Formats: sequence, structure tokens, C-alpha cells
Amino acid sequence: MHFKDLGLDQRLLKKLHHLAFDKPTEIQRTAIPVAILGKDVLASSKTGSGKTLAFLLPAMQRMYRSKPFSKRDPRVVVLTPTRELAKQVFAQLRTLNAGTPYDGALIVGGENFNDQVKELRKDPMFVVATPGRLADHLEHRSTFLDGLEMLILDEADRMLDLGFEAQLRRIHEAASHRRRQTMMFSATLDHTDVLDIASDMLNAPKRISIGHGA
Ligand code: ADP
Ligand code: MG
Repeated sequence: MHFKDLGLDQRLLKKLHHLAFDKPTEIQRTAIPVAILGKDVLASSKTGSGKTLAFLLPAMQRMYRSKPFSKRDPRVVVLTPTRELAKQVFAQLRTLNAGTPYDGALIVGGENFNDQVKELRKDPMFVVATPGRLADHLEHRSTFLDGLEMLILDEADRMLDLGFEAQLRRIHEAASHRRRQTMMFSATLDHTDVLDIASDMLNAPKRISIGHGA
């Protein structure tokens, strides 16, 4: 099984080749074909199994397939529990969006708020953020997620453990419209808080659970 068997755009296959990513991991193999059809996903697999590309590749594909610049505002938001994780996801995004018009902004706590406001005014297509700071930006400009097409929750269980439920719900609500696709990743799907929020946020999700035994 190679990345080319997953239905990904040629431009993404070329990037993966340059990055020397040859074969998809199990979570990538399972999640990508579903995600590129536009379906919601609720997935778990262990740390280090390649979840980042499992959501960034479908997100990039969605950018390639949608009309260029038909809308302003972010089209894809990735939420992560910590600044450090947001930075890692952002670095991985950069390996994929370099040389494309699909630019990104990193919106995390501990950085200057007004600098971020300016950056968001440039209408980045991707925003990688921590929930607290993104919710602060929604307070500042409530319409800012009106054009969102894809909402990705990375490490949803940890975001809930860190007390971000209200912010997640607020962001989800601000981004709610018919065309939105939501993907949720978690280390485990046994966490009842994850299942509760998933049942509120996801629309008939494809449930994927990798490597937790039979
Ligand atoms: P997770 O989010 O599941 O903990 P990551 O997305 O951070 O995992 O990926 C872990 C590591 O594996 C990263 O260094 C990443 O670059 C690498 N990786 C991801 N996908 C592949 C792949 N298909 N082939 C080889 N390495 C990969
Ligand atoms: Mg991860």
C-alpha cells in the first residue's frame, strides 16, 4: 500500500515523495480515504502513529479541490491542547503548503494578541491554534470562522482534560454551517467526555480505532 492508492492529489504525492514518506501508516491508510470524501471522522491511535498527516493531507486536498479564493477567512482550523503541539503541527503543515497559496497562521497563547489579529486579517487558509487563544479571537471578531470548511480536533481527550470543553463548544458553534467537515482524534475512544462532545459535534462519523487490541 502506497500513498498513491489513497486517492490523494498528484501534487501531494509529489510532496510526500520529496519528504521521503513512502508508505502510509495504518491510521493514515484508514482515515485518509474517508476524510477526502468529506466525511466526519472520529479516530484513535497511539502516539507516534502518524495522526498529523492523517488530517493534514485531507485538509490540503480539500484546498486543492475547492475554488481558489472564493471565500476569505480561515478554511481549516486545527486545534491542539498545547502550544508545543500546535507548533509541531504547524511545522508539519509547512512541509505541505510551501509553494502553495494555502498559507497558515499559528495562533497560540503567550504571543502578542494584536500581532495575531493582524496576521488573521491576512486571511490565512489554515489556522493551527490552542482552543483558549482561538476563543479569545472569536470574542474579538465573532464572524471570523464563518467561512470554515474543516475543523480538526487533535488530541481531543487532552483538550478536555485541560478544561477546554467550553472553548471547543464555542468554536464549534461559531463555525457551524452546512459544509463543515469535522475530524476528531484522541488517544482513546473510551473517554466518555470525548464521546459526548463527539456526538454533539460530529455528523455520522466514521469511527476508526487502531492498535487497541481486538
Ligand atoms: P501522532 O500524532 O500520531 O503522535 P505524528 O503525526 O506526530 O504522530 O507522527 C510521528 C512521526 O512519524 C513524525 O516524525 C512523522 O513525521 C512520522 N511519520 C508520519 N507519517 C509517516 C509515514 N507515512 N512514514 C514515515 N514516517 C511518518
Ligand atoms: Mg499528534
